[in-house]
Order: sequence, then structure tokens, then C-alpha cells
Amino acid sequence: MFGRRTMFAAAAALGTAGGAAAATPVARFEVERSEQEWRRLLTPAQFRVLRQSNTERPYSSPLDTEARAGKFHCAGCELAVYDSTTKFDSGTGWPSFWAPVADAVGTSPDRAFFVLAQTEVHCARCGGHLGHVFDDGPRPTGKRYCMNGVAMTFRPSGGAAS
Ligand SMILES: [Zn+2]
Repeated sequence: MFGRRTMFAAAAALGTAGGAAAATPVARFEVERSEQEWRRLLTPAQFRVLRQSNTERPYSSPLDTEARAGKFHCAGCELAVYDSTTKFDSGTGWPSFWAPVADAVGTSPDRAFFVLAQTEVHCARCGGHLGHVFDDGPRPTGKRYCMNGVAMTFRPSGGAAS
């Protein structure tokens, strides 16, 4: 028969084990899915960027040259992350913006590039990796949000059938 103390010790041991298994801190987002779900919902190319923080080949996305008025949405959760009014041609081969939609993206230090410190940009709603932000952008912000086109979808203004 287990006494109170024994039960507590067992629970504590389980708690410790669980904590060790979840050693990597997990950021909480409004939209969270398992890896399997993301793999089902996204194309392989989208998954590699949004969920594995890869970078698409420059000039590979049609959104790089998208010039119509409209909004760019996160391909993971549909959140509008950039507006065409902040898009500019950076000449890098990646869709670039000088500002995101208010509160639509978050940033974090990117330790994958430990030599050249970069700032990673992700969707504020699902945490999907979108790209990086640099300090060599145009006015008025001086920021260059260098995005992966495959991580976004574009919806032209008034594009929906009337
Ligand atoms: Zn998202």
C-alpha cells in the first residue's frame, strides 16, 4: 500500500522526468499544431521554411515580384502579416518589406547563424518562420524584412469575385 509520502515522491519523479523530456522551451502561440498536422496542411516546401526555419532559394518565389495591391498572409495560419504598401524591391530575390502589419510578427535572435547575428522573424499567431529582419532597409523605418515567399500567400485587394 502506498502512503502519502510515497505517492508524492512518485509524482515528483514523474514531474522531473516530464520536465527533462520537455527541456527545450516551447513558445506558446494561438495556433499550435503537431508536426504531423503541419506536414499534412503544408506543402513540403512550406513546411521546410515555416516549421524548420529553412530559407528558400532567392528568386524562387513569384511573390518576390508581386506588385499588386493587397496583403501577404502567413501560409500556416492565414494571418495577414504584410501589406503591399510596405513592400519594396530589395534586389535580394526575396519579398522584402519595411514594416509588418501591426502585431503580426515576432522576432527572436537566430542562433543558427552564430557568426553573423541575425534576427529571425516569425508569425505572431502560429510561430511559423517567415524570414529575417535587417537594419539596412529604406525609409521610413530603415528595416528590411526579408521574407520567404513560400511561407506566405498573397491576396490582392478586391481580388475576390464581386
Ligand atoms: Zn501564422
